[in-house]
Amino acid sequence: MSAPYSAPDDAPVSAQAFPAAPAAPASPDRLRAPDAAPPRIPVMVPWLGEEEAQAAADAVLSGWVAQGPRVAAFERAFAERVGAEHGIAVSSCTTALHLALIALDLGPGDEVVVPSLSFIATANAVRYVGARPVFADVEEATGNLTPATVDAVRTPRTKAVLAVHQGGVPADVHALRAACADWDVALVEDAACGIGATVGGKSVGQGALLAAWSFHPRKVITTGEGGMLTTDDAQWAERLRRLREHGMNVSAAQRHASSKPIVESYLEVGYNYRMTDIQAAVGLVQLGRLDEIVARRRALAARYAELLSEVPGLRPVRDPGHGQGNFQSYWVLLAEDFPVGRDELLALLSEAGISARRGIMASHLEPAYAGHGAAPLPVTERISRDSLILPLFHTMTQDEQDRVVAVLREQAGG
Ligand SMILES: *Cc1c(COP(=O)(O)O)cnc(C)c1O
Repeated sequence: MSAPYSAPDDAPVSAQAFPAAPAAPASPDRLRAPDAAPPRIPVMVPWLGEEEAQAAADAVLSGWVAQGPRVAAFERAFAERVGAEHGIAVSSCTTALHLALIALDLGPGDEVVVPSLSFIATANAVRYVGARPVFADVEEATGNLTPATVDAVRTPRTKAVLAVHQGGVPADVHALRAACADWDVALVEDAACGIGATVGGKSVGQGALLAAWSFHPRKVITTGEGGMLTTDDAQWAERLRRLREHGMNVSAAQRHASSKPIVESYLEVGYNYRMTDIQAAVGLVQLGRLDEIVARRRALAARYAELLSEVPGLRPVRDPGHGQGNFQSYWVLLAEDFPVGRDELLALLSEAGISARRGIMASHLEPAYAGHGAAPLPVTERISRDSLILPLFHTMTQDEQDRVVAVLREQAGG
């Protein structure tokens, strides 16, 4: 991008996503308070517009609203985009992770190494199959697992590693794949936040055994709710398609499309984890906008980095040496001697009309994992305690970024 810092302050309003910024009240107070607070800055807004709305309407009007031709088209387009042979659309990344672990035949007695520093669904998916999530620490710079942090908690029962591309920062999958191959354990990639991120110039997920993706509105592209699995393995792909649809040997779409009656059979216990054609229609449009969305997020991130370089005591997330992120979450780590604590800083931002969020959670500290046991996870606990996620969304203006940075600068006392 030739002018990475030029925010489209004049971006067409028609591109403004749902929900629209709250309109200023048309009360007479406005006339008396010219310095009334500017609109609240959200932490994230999905970038959706007329094209997505039309695509969803077309799906509805077609009469085919459940999993059908649009899901199949979305799967092909998505797999092609990330450089995988097969895409299997599902209802969420959480259900994608569940199916990935079933495909690996994991169950009771097996251990899966996961980062605690992740949305809790990562660890929960391991519990769905009755296996044990074993929490590993992460490196401070990326928030991701490394071969060393995995090795520290590995046991003879370790059957798989579930690595996350946290916040859209790509994990060093080349190092992790090599290590997992040495240990003879499977590497599954939780790429919920990873679409549009690259490792060595290639899409995250390319060459992955199994990668799981999310289309929740908090992620980079959205279908409302939704997920995808990608793999190069045709047999896994076939089984995953079956598992998401009650274990049926023929899909409902195939049965409906056939002129002859087809009697299906149920080969194993499956699930209803299907995506709808309405969601896939939206997803196809969003996928077409991915490059634009990622370029915009990277430009805003670069401008944040520039502005924050003058604020002492803050370390913003950056690209790692091995790849480029999509800045799905723009997190900053506070120095231990930052003048105010993280939660106080969140409160001050909120008072200034800015919605920030605590940093990535530490799953092992949640009540759902009380008594579960974990090795010491000092980096995870530090990042989770002392980081926050700043607003970053497609239509964010320079003025809005400046407002966020002004609060941080004031509190840093710099
Ligand atoms: C959001 C997220 C998930 C869950 O995704 P859903 O589509 O909401 O189920 C899983 N893992 C990570 C790392 C996430 O950020």
